[in-house]
Amino acid sequence: QNRQPGIEAKMDPAPEYIRSSYQGSHKLKDKVALITGGDSGIGRAVSVHFAREGADVAIVYLNEDIDAKATKEMVEAEGRQCLLIKGDVKKAAFCKKAIQSTVANLGKLNILVNNAGMQLPQKDPKSIDEKQLEDTFRTNIFAYFHFANEALEHMHEGDCIINTTSVTAYRSSPNLIDYSSTKGAITSFTRSLATNLTEKKIRVNAVAPGPVWTPLIVATFDEEKIRSFGSETAMKRAGQPSELGPAYVFLASDDASFITGQVIHVNGGEVVNG
Ligand code: NAD
Repeated sequence: QNRQPGIEAKMDPAPEYIRSSYQGSHKLKDKVALITGGDSGIGRAVSVHFAREGADVAIVYLNEDIDAKATKEMVEAEGRQCLLIKGDVKKAAFCKKAIQSTVANLGKLNILVNNAGMQLPQKDPKSIDEKQLEDTFRTNIFAYFHFANEALEHMHEGDCIINTTSVTAYRSSPNLIDYSSTKGAITSFTRSLATNLTEKKIRVNAVAPGPVWTPLIVATFDEEKIRSFGSETAMKRAGQPSELGPAYVFLASDDASFITGQVIHVNGGEVVNG
C-alpha cells in the first residue's frame, strides 16, 4: 500500500471493531454471510458483528494475510466459523468462485455484503488514467454485479444483499471524481436490483458511510486531509468501524423485513442530497 510516512501516528491507535457493550441477540442465527473486504476497516467490523449475532462468515480479501487471520480469530472467538478466500474482485471468475466456495464450505449463502473498495485521490481529472479508471470501476461496481449475480444462484426468500456505497455519492467530491462516480452507481444498482428481486423476496439495501477511520483512509489521503478528517460532519469527528457494524446487522436481519432499495446513511450528521 502507498502509505504516507508519518500518517499512521494520526490514526486512532486502537480502532474499535466491536464494542464490548455490544451484546448481540441471535439476529443472524445460523445464517451464512459473505463479506468482500471483510478483513479490514468497515468490513472487519461487519464480520465480527455478524459473528456475534450468530452467523458464519466467509471473508474475501486481497491484501495482508495478517489482517485476514486476525479477523478470523475475532470471528472464531464469537464461536462461529470463518472461511478466508483470498483473491482479486476485479476478476469476474474469482467472484463466481468465491461464492461457490462459500456454499461448498459453509453449506449455503444467506447474506452478501459487497464492501471491498478502492480509492485513489486526484487533484486534476486529467490525471485519472485509463488504468486507474478501469481498476476503480472494476473493484467498486463491476465486482458488485459479479458477486450479486452468482449469489442469486444460491439465495432464497428471506436472503439479502447489502452494498457499501459512500457519502461521496451524495455530495460533490472534486478530488474523488472516479471513486464518487462508482459510489453513485452503487446507489442506483441497489435501487434497481431491489425492485427486480421483490418477487423473489430477496431484499437489497445499501449503507453509505461518512468518514470512518480505516486503513483505506490512511493509505490514500495526505497529512492535511487526515488532520481535518471528519470535520465536515455535524458531530465534527470521523466514525469508528464499530459504529458501522450495527447498521449492517439491522439491514441483514428480519427487523428490516419491509426495507428494500434503501440507503442508510451512517455519517455523523453530514448533510447529504438525494
Ligand atoms: P479498508 O481499506 O479497510 O478495506 C477495503 C477492503 O477492500 C480491504 O479488505 C481490501 O482487501 C478490499 N479490497 C480492495 N480491493 C480489492 C480487490 N481488488 N480484491 C479483493 N479485495 C479488495 O477500507 P474501508 O474504509 O473499510 O472500506 C470499505 C468500504 O467502505 C469501501 O467500499 C469504501 O469505499 C467504503 N467507504 C469507506 C469510507 C471511509 O471513510 N473509510 C467512507 C465511505 C465509504
